[in-house]
Amino acid sequence: MNIQQNLNQIRQQITQHCRLAQRSADEVRLLAVSKTKPVEAILAAYQAGQTAFGENYVQEGVEKILFFERQNIPLEWHFIGPLQSNKTRLVAEHFDWMQTLDRAKTAERLNAQRPHFKAPLNVLIQINISDESSKSGIQPAEMLTLAKQVQNLPHLCLRGLMAIPAPTDNIALQEQAFAKMHALFLQLQQALPDAPIDTLSMGMSDDMPSAIKCGSTMVRIGTAIFGKRG
Ligand SMILES: *Cc1c(COP(=O)(O)O)cnc(C)c1O
Repeated sequence: MNIQQNLNQIRQQITQHCRLAQRSADEVRLLAVSKTKPVEAILAAYQAGQTAFGENYVQEGVEKILFFERQNIPLEWHFIGPLQSNKTRLVAEHFDWMQTLDRAKTAERLNAQRPHFKAPLNVLIQINISDESSKSGIQPAEMLTLAKQVQNLPHLCLRGLMAIPAPTDNIALQEQAFAKMHALFLQLQQALPDAPIDTLSMGMSDDMPSAIKCGSTMVRIGTAIFGKRG
């Protein structure tokens, strides 16, 4: 497992799929999903130029954040897992981004708990785009209501949308879900013209090309960088 080689390969793939979609390669950011991986793996990715990392579990993520703070290594941390309301404080205090916002109550808690000496917490609203009752995220019809609530909270900064579509090998189905997300993203930008809505977080190791083709601005890649999780 060579993390540097994997990162270079992913970066080349991002560039290639941007070119195919007639997009500029700098329109798509790479988030390295380091959940369950040790700090050594994150350090290797950092040494290969990667600075943005995603974590799914609050406690594990905070331990890693504190480790790199002690080393004076400045990284950008995204919370991308489901969040229980009794765990909001640790996210508000330590993370830079919260990608899985799906209720006003969580937004209010994060806003109240965000330390005022820190920049506002960047927030993405998670959309349940494949309409699976088991998955988190809000329905598309609820998007604007929640977005306007978030916009009124001074210690949060609404940046866009995130989705985890139902996994499928069928490219047409992947693109169908991602295209719906892109349409919602445009709708959000139009509804809130004064908000800095610039992030559409979608695409993982197995569906990245489809996501880039359909307008993703941030792909979240774990396995293809760090290898399979145990
Ligand atoms: C684990 C995870 C990823 C990365 O998935 P891979 O298939 O390993 O690339 C991306 N996004 C979320 C929300 C995840 O939980």
